[in-house]
Amino acid sequence: MPYPILGHMNPLLQFSQVLATRGCKITFLITEFNQKRMKGEIEHLEEHMKFVTLPDGLDPEDDRSDQSKVILSLRRTMPSKLHKLIQDINALECDKKITCIVVSKNIGWALEVGHELGIKGALLWPASATSFASFQSIPKLIHEGIIDPQTGLPTRKQEIQLLPNSAMMDTAKLPWCSLGKNFFLHMVEDTQSLKLGEWWLCNTTCDLEPGALAMGPRLLPIGPLMQTNTNKSSFWREDPTCLNWLDQYPPQSVVYVSFGSLAVIDPNQFKELAIGLDLLNRPFLWVVRPSNDHNKVKNAYPNEFHGSKGKIISWAPQKKILNHPSIACFITHCGWNSIIEGVCGGIPFLCWPFFSDQFINKSYICDVWKVGMGLDKDENGLISKGEIRKKVDQLLGNEEIKVRSLKLKELMVDNSAEEGQSSKNLKKFINWAKD
Ligand code: UDP
Repeated sequence: MPYPILGHMNPLLQFSQVLATRGCKITFLITEFNQKRMKGEIEHLEEHMKFVTLPDGLDPEDDRSDQSKVILSLRRTMPSKLHKLIQDINALECDKKITCIVVSKNIGWALEVGHELGIKGALLWPASATSFASFQSIPKLIHEGIIDPQTGLPTRKQEIQLLPNSAMMDTAKLPWCSLGKNFFLHMVEDTQSLKLGEWWLCNTTCDLEPGALAMGPRLLPIGPLMQTNTNKSSFWREDPTCLNWLDQYPPQSVVYVSFGSLAVIDPNQFKELAIGLDLLNRPFLWVVRPSNDHNKVKNAYPNEFHGSKGKIISWAPQKKILNHPSIACFITHCGWNSIIEGVCGGIPFLCWPFFSDQFINKSYICDVWKVGMGLDKDENGLISKGEIRKKVDQLLGNEEIKVRSLKLKELMVDNSAEEGQSSKNLKKFINWAKD
C-alpha cells in the first residue's frame, strides 16, 4: 500500500513485482482517483498482482498536489475502510488471505490497522536511508535543542552529521524544514507508527549509504529496484518517440532534464532554464509536465527560446532514457528514485534540489559519491542561464566524475546479482513474509 504519489507507487510496484516473481501473492491498494487516472497504464501488471481500491476522501476536483490536504484526508477516511477491506478479503479469499502489509511513508496508520488485525507489517521507505535516519532522529534533535519541537526548524545555523560516515547536513536543509510545521508534526506521528514495521526496507544499497544503514539490522537495503516493465505505471502518458530521437546522437552527447512528478518551477526560473538549454549548443531532452488546473504556474517559453537542438516531452520513459548510451548527464531535482535510476545508468548528475530530502541527496551526489555537481543560485535566487551552461561544460569535461559514475553503477549491479547483498536481504525479507 503506497502513499498515492508516483515516487511512492513506483518503488512499491517494482518491489511487488519482485515479490510476485518469487512466489508471493500480491494485493496492491491504490486510491480510486489514481485508478481512474492510471487506467490503461497499470493493466499490464495485473498478471503479477491484484489491484484493489479505496477512496482517498477528497472530491474529484480537489488539488491532490497539496500533500498536507492528501495526508489529512487519507488519515481521516481510510483507516476504518482499510480495516473492513482486509476483513472482507480475508473472509472470502482462501488462498490469498492478507498476512503481511507493506506500506510507504505518510501512512504509518496502515501498520496500526494491520496490528489491530494481528497482521504483521513492514515499511518500504521510498527515499534514502539517510533521510529515514533523519526522521528517526527527531526526538534526539529536539532533546539536544538542535530543532524546535513545534516547528522542526533549527534553533540556530549549524551543520550536523546524523550518523558516522553519513553526509554532513545543514540543519536548515533537514527534510521537513521546507515543508511547513504541519508536515513536521505529521511526520513525528508517522515516524512513531512506522516503528510497528518489523523491517524498514529501503531502495538503496550497502555501498551507497553505509553510515545510515548502521542504524540497525531492521533497516534493510534491497535496492536498486529497477524492474523496467513498471515504467508505464504513471499519471502521464510517456512519449515513446524520444528513444528513437536519442538513437540519432553519438554516445554521451545529450543532456537529460527532468524534475520528477511534483516539483514546480516558477515562471522566471523556467525562462532562464529554457534559454540556458539553448545556450548549451548540445542536444537536450527536457521533460515539461503538462500544467493542470490547480497549477498556479503555467509554463511560458521566452520569445528568444528556439529549442532547435532539443526535444521537449511531457513525460519520459525515464529508466530507459537513463540507460541510453547517448545520455551525457542528468539535470535533476534529486528525487531519490531519479537518483537511483541515474546511478544505475552510470550517469553524472547536475543537482537542482527543490525541497525535502532532495538537499541531502544532493550532498551524497556531490560530496560523498562525487558523481555530480550542484547548480548554484545567483543573488536573485535564480539558477541563471550562464550557470547552467558553465556547469554542464564543467561536468562533461570532468573525466574523474565519469569514471566514478561508472564504478558506482558496477556496485549497483553487484548488489542485484544472485549473491549480492541486496538480493540476500530480499531473500531474508521474503522468508519472513512467507513464514
Ligand atoms: N519519471 C518518469 N518520467 C519522467 C519523470 C519522472 O518515469 O518524465 C519517474 C522517475 O523514473 C521516478 C519517478 O518518476 O521513478 C519520480 O520519482 P522521484 O523520487 O525521482 O521524484 P518525485 O516525483 O517523487 O519528486
